[in-house]
Amino acid sequence: MAREADVLVVGAGVAGLVAAQTLASHGKQVLVLEARARVGGRLLRHALAPNLWIDLGGQWLGPTQERAYALAQQLGIELFPTYTEGESLVYFGGQARRYAGAIPKLGLMPLLDFGNAIAKLDKMAQQVPLDAPWNAPDAPAWDSMTFASWIERSMRTRVGRWGLKLFSEAVFAAEPYEFSLLHALFYIHSGGGVERLSSTRGGAQQDRFVEGAQSLALRLAERLGERVMVSQPVRQIAQRDDKVQATTQSGATYTARAVIVAVPPTLAGRIEYEPPLPPARDQLTQRLPNGSVIKCFAVYDRPFWREQGLSGFVTSDLEPLHLVFDNSPPDGSCGILLGFMEGASARRMSAAGYEARRAAAIECLVRYFGERAAQPELYLDHDWSAETWSRGCYGAHFPPGAWTQFGHALRQPVGRIFWAGTETATRWMGYIDGAIESGVRAAQEVLETL
Ligand SMILES: Cc1cc2nc3c(=O)[nH]c(=O)nc-3n(C[C@H](O)[C@H](O)[C@H](O)COP(=O)(O)OP(=O)(O)OC[C@H]3O[C@@H](n4cnc5c(N)ncnc54)[C@H](O)[C@@H]3O)c2cc1C
Repeated sequence: MAREADVLVVGAGVAGLVAAQTLASHGKQVLVLEARARVGGRLLRHALAPNLWIDLGGQWLGPTQERAYALAQQLGIELFPTYTEGESLVYFGGQARRYAGAIPKLGLMPLLDFGNAIAKLDKMAQQVPLDAPWNAPDAPAWDSMTFASWIERSMRTRVGRWGLKLFSEAVFAAEPYEFSLLHALFYIHSGGGVERLSSTRGGAQQDRFVEGAQSLALRLAERLGERVMVSQPVRQIAQRDDKVQATTQSGATYTARAVIVAVPPTLAGRIEYEPPLPPARDQLTQRLPNGSVIKCFAVYDRPFWREQGLSGFVTSDLEPLHLVFDNSPPDGSCGILLGFMEGASARRMSAAGYEARRAAAIECLVRYFGERAAQPELYLDHDWSAETWSRGCYGAHFPPGAWTQFGHALRQPVGRIFWAGTETATRWMGYIDGAIESGVRAAQEVLETL
């Protein structure tokens, strides 16, 4: 078994695998060390039946995520559009309302309030430099308040505020009081605007992978072959002279001239470094918590809501499923509703346990779609906060102070250590596309250095 390479990559998520592939294509010897017994990290598919896949982790691509579409095409991976035919539902204050198009019927004042807030956010977001958010003209003020403070101050209606709370949960898997206004604006700019982030058709939820999004990682790993080593959690990274050495939990050591750490910041901070990392880098990783999300699936013999003229898309204030999508397979051969528990709801339901979660999720689906939803053939869910090697999802968020005080340490190499992972991306941070950008960028930095 090889224990020496030009470059080590820690983490076989999309970022690490793309970094390894880029280095290998430049003739570098590379070894990828992955903690889990599988590749893909936050991408995880599950077979309900032969050739019937669901994604327990990341699943969608949308316009402007060109790197991800190009990679899928390069690897021969097929996509299909998310189902959006028919009317959507908004469930608010104990009442379900159907609506066609993008705008729910919640009254003129709330809609104006919400529309104004989005226009303001999009405009402010344009002023945040993607490679250095701390240089935005109003960065000190924007980074000293939470997104919640801005919502409270800027919005007039209860329903409008609820709309942005829902946006926060859906996009960050966090409550608006958990991250700074500057982070909200950076992220909005990074993903191309509030509408692009939150829409299905024309937005980040537009397309799905026929064989599950993890197929990206599986195909990349297949090409890298024995260079990808699973069940190798890296515990320590030591830099000595012109070498870097990674030691795994079982005590195996790997040596190279450089290492790319392609794991979420909070997990990067749990690795021991010798010599210790500079203060700014360590304090950065102390401050970047991951969001909280549980993905819930109810499987039916057929997508019965389509027969009622419904798209399956729901936004709601009913606990704990605030967001539902039609997640049926491309041929509609069975019906799958996908519900999200996010932020505070996810934390409550994680503590409540599987049976309580199942009951609560199905109760919500019955309120949205009627009694027919009460008896799914199968219910399953996946709690990402309970994953040892993710510790929450979709990704990290930056609380007040983090971007302006420590942001400069996010991508800054430390000697022979380079940083990748979607949290280090400038465009589509937090997404598959961002992970790819980060892997290519880190590999290029290593190539320039070696
Ligand atoms: C529920 C959910 C829904 C999402 N939805 C979408 C979506 O629809 N579209 C989208 O684009 N994105 C989505 N995302 C986000 C997307 O999945 C991530 O942005 C992307 O997969 C991150 O890739 P990565 O390589 O940066 O990190 P990861 O996938 O987290 O990879 C890091 C890898 O490092 C490993 N690791 C950690 N610590 C160590 C260690 N000490 N030693 C060795 N290995 C280690 C981990 O096991 C993991 O495999 C979603 C994520 C989740 C969880």
